[in-house]
Amino acid sequence: MHFSFGVALRTRRDLGRSSGRKAGASGLRAVPPVLIAAGVLAAFPRLADPEPPGERRAAGFRPSVHAPKQDLLVGIKIYERAGEMPRVFAEFEDLGFNTLFVSEALASDPEFRGLAREKKMAVFVIQPVFYDPEELKKDPDLHAVTDAGAPAREDWVAFACPSRDEYRRRRVESIASAVARLEPEGVSLDFIRFFAYWEMIRPDRSSASIPNTCFCTRCLERFSRETGVRLPAASRTPQAAARWIEARHLEKWTDWKCRVISSMVEDLVRRTRQVRPGLRVNLHAVPWRADDFGGAIRRIVAQDFAVLSKLTDYISPMCYSAMLHRSPAWIASVVKDLEARAACPILPSIQVKAHYPSDTPLDAAAFEACLRAALAPPSAGVVFWSWDLLEKAPEAKRVIKRCLRAERSGPDV
Ligand SMILES: [Zn+2]
Repeated sequence: MHFSFGVALRTRRDLGRSSGRKAGASGLRAVPPVLIAAGVLAAFPRLADPEPPGERRAAGFRPSVHAPKQDLLVGIKIYERAGEMPRVFAEFEDLGFNTLFVSEALASDPEFRGLAREKKMAVFVIQPVFYDPEELKKDPDLHAVTDAGAPAREDWVAFACPSRDEYRRRRVESIASAVARLEPEGVSLDFIRFFAYWEMIRPDRSSASIPNTCFCTRCLERFSRETGVRLPAASRTPQAAARWIEARHLEKWTDWKCRVISSMVEDLVRRTRQVRPGLRVNLHAVPWRADDFGGAIRRIVAQDFAVLSKLTDYISPMCYSAMLHRSPAWIASVVKDLEARAACPILPSIQVKAHYPSDTPLDAAAFEACLRAALAPPSAGVVFWSWDLLEKAPEAKRVIKRCLRAERSGPDV
């Protein structure tokens, strides 16, 4: 027990350094490269840490309920410039945020960057990977294809096929160049998966009604080439191929899909850390537990957390309970389920206010229960979705201030 406790403490300190290292990183600009390298190592301690997260996990990593919580990672997702920036940052500070998950457009705003630096708040640039409406408009053939032979599109969610080499290379390079230009503390990979409009998949939904993808010609050829499974001549249409694969080779298909996603994460992490050593990587996870909807987390969206968590610094399930009609306790159960398979900390993201017309109401009491569930061990912190919604929910702001103050001042035994 003592050993596990010590490892947990160290992990908490690492988390704290990640949010506090901003000061070191921003002070490096006018010094020689060799000092920059030393400074980067000091600012990003995991670079100098020979022990990969997987090893740490194997050694018994378990965040402890006794761990100090002053260094909790508390983040906000913010997509657009909203009002007077100095006022917004004063509120971030007052609310206890230490990490900002922002769109590339906002991260490019000099005033935003300057204030983040001044307030020592870490910036993670959100990068959608296979959600790319512009590219899909230019090249409709890029659309992923469902098992019904239709483009992978539902409401605002339209997905690119995840196995096109040229698109993948272009996306990796464009994310790497944004990292080089913006020098953020981290990237936050979004839409890094196969298609699902999970925001509308409620608990009563049958697993058979969730479309599987991608059955485009390129994916079928690639699957065949990389697994040795030869599709019969009669399986030329996406529908026929889907039926045949699902009946005979579902496990191989699922494993192959997971490799398509994890290899993209691997390419992104390698390339972005080439341009910015020590860059932290967060991955937005579909909030499905291992057994939800017939194993849909691997079978449908192909997010294999056992593998992905060895490549990233955080896995962040989007536990948006109001849109998914889930209880606060469900949030903690998702964190626990993911943590049981992951080699890195789990950082739940929660909804602060109703968004879709069909969402369940989220009053102050319900939101407080969600926040407490999100912070329950083994959570590494919490990320609020989103600033836009929080601006319209003063009661949620009050809950955040009160709960975080109590959480950080501890003791929590
Ligand atoms: Zn495809």
